[in-house]
Amino acid sequence: MPTPDLGTPARTIEVIQKYEFAFQKKFGQNFLIDPHVLGKIVRASGVTKEDCVLEIGPGIGTLTQYLACEADRVIAVEIDRGLMPVLAETLREYDNVEVVNADIMKVDIPALLAERNITGAVKVVANLPYYITTPILMHLLENEKEITSITVMIQKEVAERMQAAPGGKDYGALSLAVQYYAKPYLAANVPPNCFMPRPNVGSAVIRLDRYEEPPVSVSDPAYMFSVIRAAFNQRRKTLVNALRNDASLQLDREQAEAAIAACGLPADIRGERLSLEDFAALSDELRSRG
Ligand code: SAM
Repeated sequence: MPTPDLGTPARTIEVIQKYEFAFQKKFGQNFLIDPHVLGKIVRASGVTKEDCVLEIGPGIGTLTQYLACEADRVIAVEIDRGLMPVLAETLREYDNVEVVNADIMKVDIPALLAERNITGAVKVVANLPYYITTPILMHLLENEKEITSITVMIQKEVAERMQAAPGGKDYGALSLAVQYYAKPYLAANVPPNCFMPRPNVGSAVIRLDRYEEPPVSVSDPAYMFSVIRAAFNQRRKTLVNALRNDASLQLDREQAEAAIAACGLPADIRGERLSLEDFAALSDELRSRG
């Protein structure tokens, strides 16, 4: 396996110029140009020769080269057709890599894996396009059970929201959605100068380890997420008011107050104080009264 040669400013510029590649802002293209950061992502992912990796958005193949050296095989899904000739060259000598030209949001991942006889666990590793970070991660967590861990570069602020605990300003519906499916670890903070072009936000590497079973039991998870959304849609209001004002829940004040009291929570509590366990219990209480 050749030693990765991308991941420096000089090589990135060389490849881009050779192919007259124009960065597409609409695809969130910020390529990594720092070998230390690339090493950190791969180490944080814990990928070994036993693993099949699904990479989202290989760009010019920088992280892909590093992953190919550590993994059994890499399937890299890239939306930009203009990058296909570049990837054909930069990954030519990496025979355990396959590039798929597709939009990850439209890929049937179980079918993609089955067609390649991949039956075991799969790890996702990516420097994600920031414009669709949350939809991609929720899509993977909600639907793709074969994915056991996700190690991704994302916007720092989003990483902080994902791992936030109750009570803080970063805590919200995203924290609870992620923490219902996976345990998040912040692996590194990464400044804008590690990318070309530089993003105008800070970045972070986060690893999400999927639970085999969610950490709380709740009779109707979809209903719990409606309760969570209602609580944070009006996060300045008390929980009672946020719940009874939500059109989709159709609760009156008495139902909301009774359920909150039955969970042992104070009447004037706000949603941002509730843990995942509290929301699970509250949603079961509300369900039984609805
Ligand atoms: N992995 C490369 C690196 O680290 O240098 C590039 C990362 S860049 C932040 C994000 C990549 O995702 C781009 O190559 C972009 O074209 C690709 N991308 C954007 N939206 C996508 C989608 N919906 N499906 C697949 N790839 C996508």
